[in-house]
Amino acid sequence: MEGDQIADVTDALSVLPSHRYPFPGHDLLIANLTAVRARINQLLPTAQRVALASVRLESPVANPGKIVNAPINYQAYVDESHQDKDLQQGIGGRPTSFIGDWGLFLKANSALVGCGAEIQLRHPKRRNDHEVELALVIGRTARSVKREDALSYIAGYAIGLDMTVRGPEDRSFRKSPDTYAVLGPWLVTADELGDPGHLSLELSVNDDIRQRSNTRLLVYDVPKLIEYASAWYTLHPGDVILTGTPEGVGPVKPGDTLFARIEKIGEFRMRVADQYAA
Ligand code: MN
Repeated sequence: MEGDQIADVTDALSVLPSHRYPFPGHDLLIANLTAVRARINQLLPTAQRVALASVRLESPVANPGKIVNAPINYQAYVDESHQDKDLQQGIGGRPTSFIGDWGLFLKANSALVGCGAEIQLRHPKRRNDHEVELALVIGRTARSVKREDALSYIAGYAIGLDMTVRGPEDRSFRKSPDTYAVLGPWLVTADELGDPGHLSLELSVNDDIRQRSNTRLLVYDVPKLIEYASAWYTLHPGDVILTGTPEGVGPVKPGDTLFARIEKIGEFRMRVADQYAA
C-alpha cells in the first residue's frame, strides 16, 4: 500500500514452497513472510500500481490454523454487560467477570472474510452485534511463551470484527456463521506498528459512533494473551488472535454500513448485506 495505490507484487508468492498432501496446518504466506518481503522489495520499483478503490480486499491471512478469541477483555465492556441481559455471561449459572475464569474460545475458520466482502447476517429474530477488536497474526511457532518474549512471535496486526449472534448457545457456535469473522483492511507488520499497547480503536454504524476505546485498557494485554494461549496449545504461523472488544457493542441490521478504524493500522467501511442469508 502506498497512499491510495497498491503495488501489485503478486509475483512475490513464487518464493513460497510447494507442498504435497498432507499440507501443513499453518498459513504458508505468513510462515514465509521474511522471504516474501525480501522478494516484494525487489519487485517494488517496477511493480504496476493499481487504485485501492478498484480492488476487493480479501482477508490478509488466507489459511489461519485457528482463530483464537478473547472474551470479556475490557473492564468497561464487563461493566456494560452487567446492565444488558443479552450480553450477560455465566458459568454454571453464576455470572463471572474475569477472562482468566473463561479462557479463550475459537471461531470457525470458515467464518473468515476480508473487508471487501459483505457481512451476511443470519437469524432475523436474533440480535446480531458488532465487536471491533485489535487482531494479531502469529508469525512463528509459539509454545509456552513468556510475556517478555511474546511480541517477537507476532507477524503483524489488522482490524478484526467479531460478529456475534446473541442467544443461549455456545459462544463459538454463535460467532461462527460465514462472514462473521472479518480481518482488514490489510496486514501491518509488527516492525511497522511497534507497541500494540496504546492504540485507539473505534467502530461506527451508519456514521453513529458506537465503540471507542484504546488497547491500553485491555485486561489481558497482547503479550499476556500470547502467554495465556500458548500455555494451552501451540500457536502456528498465521494463527489469528482477536484480543476482545470494548464497550459499546450493539446490534446491526441488513443494509447498515460499518466503519472501523484502529490507530497505526488503518480503517475500512464494510456493508451489511441487504437481505439475511438464506
Ligand atoms: Mn469478541
